[in-house]
Amino acid sequence: MGSTPITLAKPDSATQQQAFQADLTAAGIMGVIEDNILNHPRSKQVRIGPSEIGMDCTRRLIRKLNGQPEPERGIAWKPTVGTACHSQMEEWFGHQPETAGYLVEKRVTVGAIGETPITGSTDLFSITDKTVIDWKFVGPSMLKKYKASGPSNQYRVQAHLYGTGWVNAGYAVEQVMIVFLPRDGEITDSYFWWEPYDRAVAEEAMNKANQLHTLIKTIGVEATLAMFPLCNNRFCPWCPADRQASTPMF
Ligand SMILES: [Zn+2]
Repeated sequence: MGSTPITLAKPDSATQQQAFQADLTAAGIMGVIEDNILNHPRSKQVRIGPSEIGMDCTRRLIRKLNGQPEPERGIAWKPTVGTACHSQMEEWFGHQPETAGYLVEKRVTVGAIGETPITGSTDLFSITDKTVIDWKFVGPSMLKKYKASGPSNQYRVQAHLYGTGWVNAGYAVEQVMIVFLPRDGEITDSYFWWEPYDRAVAEEAMNKANQLHTLIKTIGVEATLAMFPLCNNRFCPWCPADRQASTPMF
């Protein structure tokens, strides 16, 4: 590691030696943080999960189904903050009395892609309210966007996939809910989105994934990719680079 530039204020009273030592202390701390983020299971997960099946970019989905790791995009600090907040919620809701009817971080099977079962753990399930709940920790601009126009299709599909997972596990599911909590703001800014559980939303996404999986197996990943246009999302980990690579130089 050590790739991150660290700028330290140097108090007037500090000696050169102290300043040098403080740099080393900071680099050591940053190294531990970066190593832990890079070695987190999230960074290493290759098999597609329920949170990814509804992604908008079909080319990205194809690559994910093909088991290709996404290009390195630096140290994923914001997802790490999200993971830490999820752990806090797990602890709080895990300590609720059984009579509250909450099930926390239980793994369910949402379906299969080819022969492979697709599983994922849901943040929270309310047996009493028959509701699947997913936490999203978001920054201010995205929070505003979700309040104005609802969740992304990817989030929505994820919620319904989990709904199907709970039905598969023998529970009644009537609602899916996404709780948007401000990563950087006050708790009163939180936004609870929900809609009736609809098995068809989950099925449609699983069908698309299975069709792509079959195509990849039949005609290969490159030919499958060629069937779908590049997306226009500048944050797509693949398409902007693919567009550059395919643009003629003259
Ligand atoms: Zn894309």
